[in-house]
Amino acid sequence: MAVLQFLGGCREVGRSAIMVDSVILDYGMKPSHPPEFPLDGVSPSEVIISHGHLDHVGAAPDLMDFNPPVYMTPPTRDLSTVLLKDSMNIMEHPPYTRREFRQFESNVVEVDYCEPFYVDGWEVTMYNAGHIPGSAMVHMSKDTNLLYTGDLKLEEMRLLEPADMKFPEVDALIVESTYFGVEHPDRKKLEKAFVESVVSTVENGGHAIIPAFAVGRTQEVLMILERHGVTPYVDGMGREVGEILERHPKYVRSARQLRRAIKKAIPVERGRREEALTEPAAIVTTAGMLNGGPALFYISRLYNDEKSRILLTGYQVEGTNGDMALKTGMLNLGMRAVKLRMGVEQYDFSAHADDAQLKNVVERAANKGAEIAFTVHGEKTEEFAEWIKDNIGIDAYAPKNGEVYVI
Ligand SMILES: [Zn+2]
Repeated sequence: MAVLQFLGGCREVGRSAIMVDSVILDYGMKPSHPPEFPLDGVSPSEVIISHGHLDHVGAAPDLMDFNPPVYMTPPTRDLSTVLLKDSMNIMEHPPYTRREFRQFESNVVEVDYCEPFYVDGWEVTMYNAGHIPGSAMVHMSKDTNLLYTGDLKLEEMRLLEPADMKFPEVDALIVESTYFGVEHPDRKKLEKAFVESVVSTVENGGHAIIPAFAVGRTQEVLMILERHGVTPYVDGMGREVGEILERHPKYVRSARQLRRAIKKAIPVERGRREEALTEPAAIVTTAGMLNGGPALFYISRLYNDEKSRILLTGYQVEGTNGDMALKTGMLNLGMRAVKLRMGVEQYDFSAHADDAQLKNVVERAANKGAEIAFTVHGEKTEEFAEWIKDNIGIDAYAPKNGEVYVI
């Protein structure tokens, strides 16, 4: 028997948090304005973090009241540290203090994939989730077996191996739902169209501004460009993250190819951004949804240039600058909104499982004994739960934040 308490990330994307008996799986933030956090007032005996994205780890320093150990993989530790520091500086009212952040840092216990550890009577094992370097699915085993997918992807990327589906028996599954109902485009065709657009933009005398998330996406894009013989500039936090990932070679698909791609890209030093604009070029830069970062500097210089293009490399949350640029051709540059004469394109290099992969995960879990599934982390969790009941024939629920289930 286990008690599951859903604290955040239900019927929404952001602030993921689930309590299993006295253990907390993820404790993230939702980067809305103002940011939102999971339900609080909980005192976990241990914390387990699935991966280093802020919607999974962003509020974790707020859990330090009773000094719990915090389990995560080595890359998740390094990525979390960098992103939390950054978000602490940006947030007007962080839910934790600097002292709690330092305590969080010192409470981290590093665990590798497939290396069991023990918390609150559970044997816990992390499996590669294929989402970002160090991302993990969490398997928990006691008298019942639980699998929490975190965010996952079943398809190989240039940067990462696909999720490792060799987990043992499962009785209950907690599965992300981000792209239920959405098919991702064929990766090869997508890469080809992306590279062709970058090359033609530069050949026509323009700049290809490539906004990319710092974690994973920047490195994936650099690897794609390197593979196709394009030498880009790279600017923003993605550079720092690249250095972190180079320190964890066994968590990427090919450390050699990653190193080569990073080495080939030209770093833009702070205060020297003008240099990247002197000749037509491709510039890979944060922020991925254009809500800040050096990307806005470049766009502030180029928005009137019809030869230049913005090539978005991921999903754009509603209300972000990237979303606005796609829908209206307008963009907010701090105090003023401008009409973009440069082109705007979107390439869906998603690091999440798509519809077919999500269904496949549930099928595999059912084959390993799962009798119940909980759908979280998505806008269509209720539809996904219905699909599971109708097609896999097991119990399925789309919990709401605050609900408690005994399994
Ligand atoms: Zn994630």
